Formats: sequence, structure tokens, C-alpha cells
Amino acid sequence: MLFFCEECGQRNNIPLTPVLVEGNKFTCQFCKFDTSFPFLDSDDKTTCSTSRTSKISSEPEFLQFDTEGGKKEISQLLTLDLSDMKNPELLVKPFKKFEKLITVDELPAHTYNITLTLPGDPPKKPRYFLGSGLIFCDEKSSSWWTIDLTFGVKPKPVQQVEVPTPELDAFTIDPIPPLPEPGDAKSGSLQETLLKQLVDKNNQMTQMNQTINKFQKELSMTRQIMASQTSGILFINMQRHILFANNVFCSMTGHTPQTLKGKTLDQVVSMEAGWQNLQALLSDIRYKKIWHGKVILKGASKDQLPLAMHLTYNKGGANGAEEGFSCQFPPENPIESLKQEDEITFDALTGIADRPSFQQHLQNCIIQAGNEGHQVGLIYIDLDHFKRINQLFGPGFGDKIICSIVTILKRGIADAENVFVARLGGDEFAIILPQPPNTGLVQKLADKILKQFQKSVENESRSIYISPSIGIAIYPEGGNSPLELLRNADTAMDIAKSHGGNKSVGWTSKMKIQAVENLYLETDLRKAVAKDELMNYYQAQIDLENGSICGMEALARWEHPTQGIISPAAFIPIAENTGLIEKLGVDLVRQACVQGKKWRDMGFKNFVMAANLSGRLLRRKDLYDQIMDILETTGFPATSLELEFTEGVLIENMDDTIKLIERWRDHGIKMAIDDFGTGYSSFSYLQRFKVDNIKIDRSFVMNVTTSATDAAIVMGIIAIAKELKFHVIAEGIETEEQLFFLQKNGCDVGQGFLFSKPISADDMKGLLLRDCSVALTHKRVVDKFFSIQASD
Ligand code: C2E
Ligand code: CA
Ligand code: CA
Repeated sequence: MLFFCEECGQRNNIPLTPVLVEGNKFTCQFCKFDTSFPFLDSDDKTTCSTSRTSKISSEPEFLQFDTEGGKKEISQLLTLDLSDMKNPELLVKPFKKFEKLITVDELPAHTYNITLTLPGDPPKKPRYFLGSGLIFCDEKSSSWWTIDLTFGVKPKPVQQVEVPTPELDAFTIDPIPPLPEPGDAKSGSLQETLLKQLVDKNNQMTQMNQTINKFQKELSMTRQIMASQTSGILFINMQRHILFANNVFCSMTGHTPQTLKGKTLDQVVSMEAGWQNLQALLSDIRYKKIWHGKVILKGASKDQLPLAMHLTYNKGGANGAEEGFSCQFPPENPIESLKQEDEITFDALTGIADRPSFQQHLQNCIIQAGNEGHQVGLIYIDLDHFKRINQLFGPGFGDKIICSIVTILKRGIADAENVFVARLGGDEFAIILPQPPNTGLVQKLADKILKQFQKSVENESRSIYISPSIGIAIYPEGGNSPLELLRNADTAMDIAKSHGGNKSVGWTSKMKIQAVENLYLETDLRKAVAKDELMNYYQAQIDLENGSICGMEALARWEHPTQGIISPAAFIPIAENTGLIEKLGVDLVRQACVQGKKWRDMGFKNFVMAANLSGRLLRRKDLYDQIMDILETTGFPATSLELEFTEGVLIENMDDTIKLIERWRDHGIKMAIDDFGTGYSSFSYLQRFKVDNIKIDRSFVMNVTTSATDAAIVMGIIAIAKELKFHVIAEGIETEEQLFFLQKNGCDVGQGFLFSKPISADDMKGLLLRDCSVALTHKRVVDKFFSIQASD
């Protein structure tokens, strides 16, 4: 069953189970706001007694197919007994194919199966099921549709629709006649005390009188203002009940105070995009304060009349004014009176502004800022590793996460004035600050948003941590046009991402220089790849049990004609973005195998050659054949080759990757998961990949002796890897203490500057020749370790 949270307006799917109904309280999955369950709100006359809950029976009967999601779903047929419920109202909003809203008012109060008929030819045997989303079978076309189902109660009756009566104007309080002065009576006497009290009371009365007169003046002024309004006006409360409608609204629409009585805004106008958006919109207006747009009149003599509506949020407060919204309907040419740029369109999933609205709004803000000479702040947000969430848990779950993110963002900007939030698509969001007083404030807001992400997102009983990468650009320095501003914020976001995400980065002109340099580098890299100018360095891997070199990792190096040796960290991302990696990556594996074969021919046979494969390369259909061809043509044995992938790359195309890995492993090629612990480190999916080695990321190894958390993580990874029969390689060992720790905890292989930096093929040859001495040095280290252990 769907339930819209009163606080944040988000859609919640709640299981309709007796347990929940008995609980009477329902906590919003998104903002954690507690709401009374609408069926059982004890103040509401539409409640049902708790005994009703036992009458809900649910028997799983049918297996349903939701063809739109392409997934099978088991749904339950529920029989609902609403007999104790007065005025139940069932709103059924089918989505996708059926745009029209069906409202089933006046459900008969007895036990029934809910049956509805959809527009078009009625199916022979319609069946309807309650559950999270309703699944409907149209037997005629033998297709299945998913339908959103919302239960609600009938709106509460409205107290007052009419403007206050004119008689109020004549209401005044006569002042109390002056009393004798306290000095007139004998001092200290009872009479004096009484007189004093009387004078005090009199003063209070006069004050009250003045206050009332003041209110009356204000009231009559308000009434004059209201009377002089040429716009139709509605005031609604937070539950969307109409509290007030002026005469202009009535004459404009054909409504009367009687027809408006007891109605909610949804029953009087509809958004072009449907009922759900109105709710989301109202929840949004609380942050954005104002909205202009088009609505369609309903339920009155001028039914279907399009109207322009200006919506503002009233905070309510001191003078007893209720929190709610004012809706203004400008007269004549209602739609034309809306300037094109005023219209905001909404993202269907989250209900916040969409990309076109964002672009329009940014444009308007920049024009205004240009005229008035101030800044515009743009915060661009992209979620880290969101693709994996979609791939691991399915797009439906991903959608729910996106909705939760909106709540997080709203919490982050709750204190900020006038900010505009939009979803640009996928996992990208943007926030516009139309007039930030200074640059620092934009950064502060970004930091606040980051902070909100520290809490986990709970969904479907899964608790997930999501981090964003945030880029900031500020008009005019950060871009003179919406396009440039967005591009620069995007560049800054990319930099946040490339530094591991969960960061906000402000755009600087330096980044532009960097971008230009990257462009030059790209041109040079193209030439270098074409001329085979890239080479491998090799880094030794040491068997931590006996100290010998048991393997090596081939790491790409580029000797730039003017800049010297360039790190792969600088050029591999460029090679990936430009597609150069497809040739480069394969060339380097070939080079590694050619070199490996030479060393084998020299008599060094006990090592595995590890090569890195990028995600982009892995997606190439011919990669399998290319690797097999390399092995065949170089004569390097498959069992001595190890291929390294990062976790993210493995998950990206899970099913195909599993098949590919299995084919390679059939030939004896070893597989390793690189940088383990930095991505989505779940052993549950690791079981699905038949790999040989896990490489613990350098960032953990670096801190094993200083951080208890990192030590625990490393110990945990080793323990579970052993359980799953993987070997563990620790990367980036720099100190003996780190080495001792890893040895003590059963790590199999070590790699790091402590043993050797990545070195050229020539130097590696020397190292292999001296392997005994490396082993000996290492033996000393091992001996030292055991002697420490023995003396413990
Ligand atoms: P990686 O695969 O995680 O490689 C390990 C990196 O850690 C190497 O950096 C290595 O030099 C560095 N390293 C090893 N031990 C230590 C240590 O004790 N301390 C410190 N501070 N660093 C250590 P490098 O060679 O700069 O490579 C960086 C990354 O570039 C590699 O990370 C890998 O992701 C990528 N890469 C390198 N060569 C290739 C390649 O041929 N193909 C692909 N696709 N990626 C490559
Ligand atoms: Ca690697
Ligand atoms: Ca690594």
C-alpha cells in the first residue's frame, strides 16, 4: 500500500499487515517522521476499532507478473473489512498506461474484495490485488499492469469558507469609566487594596480593548485588500483543506462557498501531471517558498478550465494563523499571464524540479545577477558508485534510493533561503543559490549536504551508505552562462570523484589549465600509443612464508619526450576516457608476456605475471580471444598469467564477466580482485566470482599499525578470504611493522616499497638474479619476527 508522508511528501510502500495496523504509528522511510496511520487516527471520526485488524485476512493466492519491470513478483490477495470505517475513500492511481485518475468514493461499508474497472474495454474477469503496488490482469490482452493504490480518509469538514461577516466591523468594547484614584482612599486600608486591584484590572481591560481595536483595524484593512483583489484566492492548510476562498475565485470558477465546503485543493484543481505531483509540489514549496504553474479546474461549472496558479507557503505562527499555503489565480488570460520562464516542470520520480526547469531557472538567476551585480551559486551533486547499487539491487531499489536522496538534500538545505533543487537525471542533482552573500556560504551549504549523507539510507530493511561527489561553481568567475557554469561545476565534481568521492570541490581557474594540459597530454598519448612508446615496469610480489619472489605486477609507464616518466595515475584515466586503453591495455599485457617468457627461458620459472585490465577493456567482446592469442603467440603459460580487475569493474556487467572469468580460468589463467576494500566490498558477490587472489588496498595496509579500524578490516578480509579459499595479497607494504602484522594474520603475499618499487625490465632481471639475496634479507625480517613472537 502506498502512503504519502505528511512531512516530506515521499511515497512510502507499507505492508498492509495486522502488525503494522496495530502499531497505529507509521514511520516514514525517508524522513523518519512518525505519522498516525490514517485508518486509525484516534481523533478522526473515520477511524476503525483495532478489532478490525483481525478481520484483515491475507492469503497468498496468485503468482503475478509485472511485465513492465520484467520481473516476477508474488503479490497477495487481501480481503479488507472496512466495516468499522466511516467514510472510507479509496484513491486509485494507475500509472504508466492509464493516465486518468480513478476515484472510488463511497465504498460500501462491508467486507469485499476491491474491484475496479479501468478505462477502455473491461476485461472479462478483472482481478485486483492489494499489496505494494496493485497488479492488475487484463485477460483480454493477457497483459499485466501495475497500479498504484493509495488509501486515504475523507477530508475533514472545513470550518469556514466565507469571508468574515461585515458585522464584525461594528464590534467594539466600551472603555470602563475612570475609577477613583488610589490616593482618595485611606492608605493601607482594605478599601485601598481593593481600589488598587480595580485600577489594575481597568488598565488591563483598556489594554485589551486597544489590542482588539488594533486587530479590528487590521482585519478591516485585510478585508479591504481582499475585496480589492482582482485575483482569485484560496487559503489551504497543510492537509490541503480549503480554509478560505474569496468571491473572485468563486465567480472565476463557478464554485460557490457550498461546493467548496469540505473540499481539499486536490478536489478543486489538478496538476497537469496528476495528483501525486500536487502533493510532492506542496512539500517542495515549503522549502522553495513559491511556485507558479498551470492547473486544471475540476468539479465546477467551468470544469477543465486551465488556470494559472501562484502558490506560496505561509509559515503560520504567532497570531494563530495556521500553517498552510495561499493559492492565487490571476484574472483573465490566465495562462498567458504566466510567463514562459515561470513554469516549473517536475521530475516524475522525485517530484522536484527537472532538468529543463533547472536550466530555465539558472538562466533567469544569471540574467538577474548580471543586472544587479551579484553572484549565483551552483552546487552539482553526483552520487558515488550509484551504478553499482542499481546493478546489485535492481533499478526499482535504485529509484527508492534516489527518492531518499531528495530527503537528504532537503534536510541539508533546510535553513537556506530561496534555494532551488532539481534532479538533472539519473543520480545527478543540482542546487542553485540565486544570490549568495559570499562564496564561503555556498561551500558551507555543500558541506552541510555532505554531512547529511553520513547517515545511512534505510530501504527495504537494507541499510546503505551513499556518498556524493559535489562540484561548486559560482557566477561570474565560475562561468558566464548556464552552460559554462554547469560544465565547470561538473569538472569540479569530477575532481572530487577522482579523489575518492565523498567530497566537495570548488571550481578554480587552475582546473581550466589542468583541462587544457590534459588535452595536450591526450594528443601526446595518442602518438605514444601509436608508436608503442609505452612500457611496463615490474613490481615484485613476495611469498610471505619463505621470502622468495613469487610474482610480479606489470605497471604501465610512459616516458614523455619532454616531461620524463609520467605516472599511470595521470595517463590511465585519459586513456580510459578516450578509448586509447583498448589498444594500450592489450599491448601492455602482450609486453608483459613477452618479457615473462624471456625470464622463464632464463630459468626463472616460479613467478606469476600480473597485469591490470581496465573496465573499458573488459567490455570488448574480443578481449577473450586477444588474451588467448597473446598466450599462444608469446608462448607464456596461461597458468603463470594473472589478470587484475577492480571490484567495480567486475560488478558492472556481472553476468558476462562471470562467464568471461570462467572461460579464462578453464585455461588456468589466475584472477585477482584489485584494490579490495575500496569499492563495494561484499563477500556475498565475491562468492559468485571464481577468483584466485584478493589484493587488499594500499590505503588499509598503510594504517594497519596505527588504526585499530583498518587493522580490524584487514584481519576480517584475510579471515573471510581464507574461508572462501582465496589467497590474499597485501599491496603497499612500506614498513617492517606492517609486514609483521600481515604475516601474523596469515596474509600470503606482500607487495610494496619495503621489498621493491616498480622497476624497469632490466632492473627486474637484476633483482631476479639476486632473488636469493632478496629472500635472504627478507628471511632476516621473518626471523626477527619469529624471535619477537617467541619472546612474547
Ligand atoms: P594498482 O594496480 O593498485 O597498482 C599499485 C600501485 O601502487 C602502483 O602505482 C605502485 O607503484 C603503487 N605501490 C606499490 N607499492 C607501494 C608502496 O609500498 N607505497 C606506495 N606509496 N605505493 C606503492 P602505479 O604504478 O603508479 O599505478 C597506479 C595505478 O595505475 C595502478 O594501481 C593501476 O590501477 C593503474 N595501472 C598501472 N598500470 C596499468 C595498466 O597497464 N593497465 C591498467 N588498466 N591500469 C594500470
Ligand atoms: Ca593492480
Ligand atoms: Ca591495487
